[in-house]
Amino acid sequence: MIGVITWMHTFSPAKMWIAGLNALQKPLLHLATQANLELPWSTIDFDFMNLNQAAHGDREYAYIETRLGVPRTTVVGHASTPAVTERIGVWSRAAAGRAAAKNLKVARFGDNMRFVAVTEGDKTEAEVKLGAQINTWGINELVERVDAVADADVDALTDVYLAEYEVAPELLPDGERHQSLRDAAAIEVALRAFLVEGGFQAFTDSFEDLGGLKQLPGLAVQRLMADGYGFGAEGDWKTAILVHLCAVMGAGLPGGSSLMEDYTYHLVPGQELSLGAHMLEVNPALSSKKARLEVHPLGIGGKQDPVRLVFTADAGPAVVVALSDMRDRFRLVANVVDNVDLPEPMPKLPVGHAVWKPRPDFPTAVGAWLQTGGAHHTAMSTQIGVDVVKDFARMVGIELLVIDQDTTLEGFENQIRWNNAYYAMGGR
Ligand code: MN
Repeated sequence: MIGVITWMHTFSPAKMWIAGLNALQKPLLHLATQANLELPWSTIDFDFMNLNQAAHGDREYAYIETRLGVPRTTVVGHASTPAVTERIGVWSRAAAGRAAAKNLKVARFGDNMRFVAVTEGDKTEAEVKLGAQINTWGINELVERVDAVADADVDALTDVYLAEYEVAPELLPDGERHQSLRDAAAIEVALRAFLVEGGFQAFTDSFEDLGGLKQLPGLAVQRLMADGYGFGAEGDWKTAILVHLCAVMGAGLPGGSSLMEDYTYHLVPGQELSLGAHMLEVNPALSSKKARLEVHPLGIGGKQDPVRLVFTADAGPAVVVALSDMRDRFRLVANVVDNVDLPEPMPKLPVGHAVWKPRPDFPTAVGAWLQTGGAHHTAMSTQIGVDVVKDFARMVGIELLVIDQDTTLEGFENQIRWNNAYYAMGGR
């Protein structure tokens, strides 16, 4: 059970709800509805009105919910109305995310990238707030497993790669770099087994701490994200959590949930765009086209050239979400963006990527994001809308600042100030 939906068929004195609401540990939806769609104009009498006092009951019930400070989502309308069922669907997706957070185990291989600030955070507080357990393993525990992977398992997975992707000739079985592909397959076999055996749904690694791994995991991480695992690079467990939760909340919808990093800008006035990517680890589910499987040098990490999937995310709406630890609280920041087709090809960019136009416009969105202290790593979802994120934030009691088509910089800066006051006064 991931949540509770309540509605008032008629009046119900709300002191009767106090014990239950105080005991409630699940997300709550107050559905303001009633049995009949229409007023029975020609036949309504006083008995009917007394038996169908939904409007009356809603107000009495909402009073006690409000007085007790019960976080909830209120949805209004007849249950037969598509807008109502869709809104309940949004809430249900958020509730699934919240339930997944409660049961989430995150495996970290190594620590955060040296000197980086925003990927740090209070793991204990994250477990208090979200339920997610975040713990660390030495990378060489993974290396031992990679070294022990059977050739037959590597053969089988390599066949899968050859079937699923457009493979660069040098990686083909008769190509001169086929061994790189086999090395990548061994990493995937071992990493997947480690995650499955430990019950982990999210993980991190660090290019600064690769131990005996032959290459930075790229293809393996990309494929695991495509299967719903959360991932954060450079030890970024907060983004790993978000990527998994977005995958859970978006389950069954077209698209995917990926680690994304704001990388570089196109700043031509009036045509501004953001280019997002990572060293390797972007989820190929962001693209409906067959990804290209390639191997290229990587100037960091000091290991062999890693194998990776290269693609452009499909054009269409998306949301990017970041989680920052502001010391006194966690802060979620979300921006509604539109991924766009590439204005020009980028034949030399050897990584999966997305190019987007943020809402409401580039200067407002980027300015607002920077005012929040939002991270450079995000979870990009092309599956869910920001409404799901809003319900999720309400359920887990984490601050959320949303940048969307209605945002103005002045209003947004006020929102940040008001939130600071709210949390300083003990709001939660
Ligand atoms: Mn990064």
